[in-house]
Amino acid sequence: MPIARIALDVPLDRLFDYTVETATEADIGRRAVVPFGNRRLIGVILALGDAPTDEGVALKPVERILDDMPAMPAGTRGLLQFCADYYQHPIGQTIHTALPARFRDPTPFRVSEALHYQAADAHALQASLSARAVMQHRLAALLAHPRTEAEIRAIGPAAWKTAQGWLEAGWIAARATEVAVVTPAEGPALNAEQADAVRQIVACQGFQVDLLHGITGSGKTEVYLQAIAAVLAAGRQALVLVPEINLTPQLEGRFRSRFPGVEIAALHSGIADGERAAAWVRAARGEARIVLGTRLAVFTPLPKLGLIVVDEEHDASYKQQDGLRYSARDVAVMLAKRADVPVVLGSATPSLESWHNATLGRYRKLSLKQRAVAGAMPPKWRLVNTRAQPLTDGLHAATLGAISEKLARREQTLLFINRRGFAPVMHCGECGWLAACTRCSARLTVHLREGRLRCHHCGDEQRIPKACPGCGNTDIKPLGHGTQRYEDILAARFPHARVLRIDRDSTRRKGSFEAAMKAIHDGRVDILIGTQMLAKGHDFPKLTLVAIVGADSGLYSSDFRAAERLYAQLAQVAGRAGRAEHPGDVLIQTDFHEHPLYQTLTADDYAAFATTELAERQRAGFPPFLHQAVLRAEANLLEEAVAFLTEAVQWVPEDPAVTVWDPVAATMARLAGRERAQLLIQASSRPRLQAVLASWMQNLRKLKAGKVRWSLDVDPLEL
Ligand code: ADP
Ligand code: ZN
Ligand code: ZN
Repeated sequence: MPIARIALDVPLDRLFDYTVETATEADIGRRAVVPFGNRRLIGVILALGDAPTDEGVALKPVERILDDMPAMPAGTRGLLQFCADYYQHPIGQTIHTALPARFRDPTPFRVSEALHYQAADAHALQASLSARAVMQHRLAALLAHPRTEAEIRAIGPAAWKTAQGWLEAGWIAARATEVAVVTPAEGPALNAEQADAVRQIVACQGFQVDLLHGITGSGKTEVYLQAIAAVLAAGRQALVLVPEINLTPQLEGRFRSRFPGVEIAALHSGIADGERAAAWVRAARGEARIVLGTRLAVFTPLPKLGLIVVDEEHDASYKQQDGLRYSARDVAVMLAKRADVPVVLGSATPSLESWHNATLGRYRKLSLKQRAVAGAMPPKWRLVNTRAQPLTDGLHAATLGAISEKLARREQTLLFINRRGFAPVMHCGECGWLAACTRCSARLTVHLREGRLRCHHCGDEQRIPKACPGCGNTDIKPLGHGTQRYEDILAARFPHARVLRIDRDSTRRKGSFEAAMKAIHDGRVDILIGTQMLAKGHDFPKLTLVAIVGADSGLYSSDFRAAERLYAQLAQVAGRAGRAEHPGDVLIQTDFHEHPLYQTLTADDYAAFATTELAERQRAGFPPFLHQAVLRAEANLLEEAVAFLTEAVQWVPEDPAVTVWDPVAATMARLAGRERAQLLIQASSRPRLQAVLASWMQNLRKLKAGKVRWSLDVDPLEL
């Protein structure tokens, strides 16, 4: 009997053999229901064989092979095998990460649930109708346009059955199987830089990485749209990846109105399981022509893939932080290589990894240096030296002056502070006590309105004490400024202004974020106070001043990526100002106005920033000049975590090209009551590091970890 080798969602890095009565090559990539211990699991068949992998083991039979969806194609399986190897993650779990959750359910998936139906042969259909069958006539009329199963069923009890008969007869068809010519709606005439970028991208005959560097509003999205139009015209599919927060209804709408009639699958965390599964199926059949999604969309099967776009390629949300710790940006480049198609990485502030690759000539750099809309100017920067003059209530006189000016002109201001709550900590001036979380190595944030102290890491909270627990002093005070405090300060300073705070606390209720966006758009807000939630993806035409406060803490962080992140974040938030006909002003309150980061930022000179920062990384021995992996361990006691890592070090295969550091406590050693430690391993050669990691993981998986939980993160973004 043939043997099916099946990937199961279990933490063992191997396939499992089952006997199967009949199976053909066509079953590879299909799902199978199999017994596993006393459970039934859904697995994916990855190979067929004649002999069992292990001798003398009694194999159980496959219960059933499911053919309710297209088999996972070889290309996708290959990409996932690469990911399993590269990120050192068990193959079964890797495959299951990529599979829509709906496919883990053994009840067959009916693709019909999510297809559209439409008359394909109207004459034959009309001829078949019996004169008195009212329902048939109504159904036939309905199917003049694409309809869903739900719409068909709504006609009457027998409608769906009738439609299926027509489908079999070929009188109607599931829509989008044949889109012959795609005529995109007309976009704006491209400027010279944009036209050149599109020309270069479209001219690629195979694998090529283009780094599209363009300031906010320079028309990158327009470049993607026009390049995609060419891909669709050639009968191929496009994959567009965006960070979670960027996949707004506006962006989706922009794609839909540009490509009317083209099936676009929008995949983000808000999509229901069934819909995601349907999109997967339609993409795998080549019907969905554009897949627009967040990181997981990179694993969608696309048989006619012609172009990949990764928008905001520097965004940290492309990196998954648990399970399969993949970087969707990096996987997208690998996918492009395997599929031999071009990939465009777009950003106003490319990651230093990508910038470095462009410098080395591995990537081709395409630049957009101006704002696309005629007359729109980049924001005017201004550094406000807060050392020269003391602040009142956390705001400099120049900042207050700029806000008043905008108010007088009925324009909007955004005060950007990346810290929610009233104040970052509660403090006793007598004994120096600072309120800290008992479960984390972190301070508690003051939420004055609710009268509570909250840990932003574990969610723990308590009432604000009446007196200092250290010395009994009753005069304890919030120290520093968060969004809530600025909200109070600005409301008091500008009593006639309409002040709106937008952060995770103010937008907890469903729909409140959208309502806030609408209020801003409708001009019902004068001063906005917001965190990074507002930094990306939203256009506010009346916003002409961005005032940035509290940014200095990112300048001297122990994290070598902090400067890169700060630059990107500030450039992005600055891009919110003056997108339309109003020029924008951006003001930064800082104690370090001469810092090179602020100097290059305010000169709009990302290239200079990147060059300086890369030189620094090279000198200090950081990525992208070498490659890292970090082994993390957590336990109830720090000693247990460190002891595990110390043991783990013994099992690293000897390789002079690979450096293994000593285990250390994590930057945040305690989180939610668990103690965390980590071990850094690095090498200048990626293949050497990979080889070491692979055999190290084999050894580690055999180690008894006891109560220690551990994980490996390859190319970690945070240490
Ligand atoms: P980015 O993605 O770089 O932020 P967008 O593609 O969203 O930029 O373009 C910013 C704005 O400029 C959008 O409103 C877009 O419609 C407009 N735009 C883009 N290209 C052009 C062009 N060539 N002519 C006129 N307007 C353009
Ligand atoms: Zn005290
Ligand atoms: Zn905590």
